[in-house]
Amino acid sequence: MRVLVVEDEQAMAASLTWGLQAEGYVVDVAVNGEDGLWKARETAHDVIILDVMLPGLNGYQVCRQLREEGLWTPILMLTAMDEDLDQAEGLDSGADDYLAKPFAYPVLLARLRAMTRRGLGERPAVLTAAGLRLDPAGRTLTQDGVALDLTSRELAVMEYLMRRQGRVVSKTELLEHCWDVAYDGGPAVVEVHIHRLRRKIGRPVILTVRGEGYLIDDHTHEH
Ligand code: CA
Repeated sequence: MRVLVVEDEQAMAASLTWGLQAEGYVVDVAVNGEDGLWKARETAHDVIILDVMLPGLNGYQVCRQLREEGLWTPILMLTAMDEDLDQAEGLDSGADDYLAKPFAYPVLLARLRAMTRRGLGERPAVLTAAGLRLDPAGRTLTQDGVALDLTSRELAVMEYLMRRQGRVVSKTELLEHCWDVAYDGGPAVVEVHIHRLRRKIGRPVILTVRGEGYLIDDHTHEH
C-alpha cells in the first residue's frame, strides 16, 4: 500500500512516515499543497492523508482540485480544532473521511484500512489463494494454518499480488507500490524478493509470465 502524506509540519510528517512505514506502508511526503497536487498526479497512491492547514493551497482546495481532475484516490483529511477554515468548504471538497488532530495512532490506522478496503469495493478483509491466507490488518501470512516468517517488504509484495489474483503484475508496478520513491535500484530487487517468497512458500503459487511480470493464479492451484 502506497500512501501520500501532505503535511507541512515536519515533526508530524516524520512521525506519520515512521509509524506508517512500521505498518508496511510505502510513504511519500509532500510539504505543501502544490507539492501534494504534483505528487498525487505523478504517482498512483492507494490513499492520501491530507492536512487541512497548509501554506498556499489549503487541504480542501487540494482535495477539490484533485477531484476536478478526476483523481479519485481515497482522501483522509486531518483537521484541527482551532482552525478557522470554513467547515462547509470541507464538506463538499470530495474528501472520503475526516480525522481531528490530535488523534490516536490506532484510530488513524483503522481508518486507513477501512478506506483502502472501500476503495476497491468488494475487497475482502482477509486474502486467500492456494492454501495461503494473508491478513492485512494483522500483517501475517499463513500457509495451511502455519505462519510464514516474512519481512514487511515481502508481505507488502505478497499482499499486492494477492489483491490482484488472476492478473499479471509487472515488476515496475510492484516497485511503484511496494518501494519508496527514494529507492533508485532497478527491478532486480523485485526478482530477489519474489525468489525469497517462493522459497518460503515452497509451492508454485507465484507464476512468472515471461516478459510481463508475475501472476497468482486463483484457480490452478486451489486445493
Ligand atoms: Ca499543517
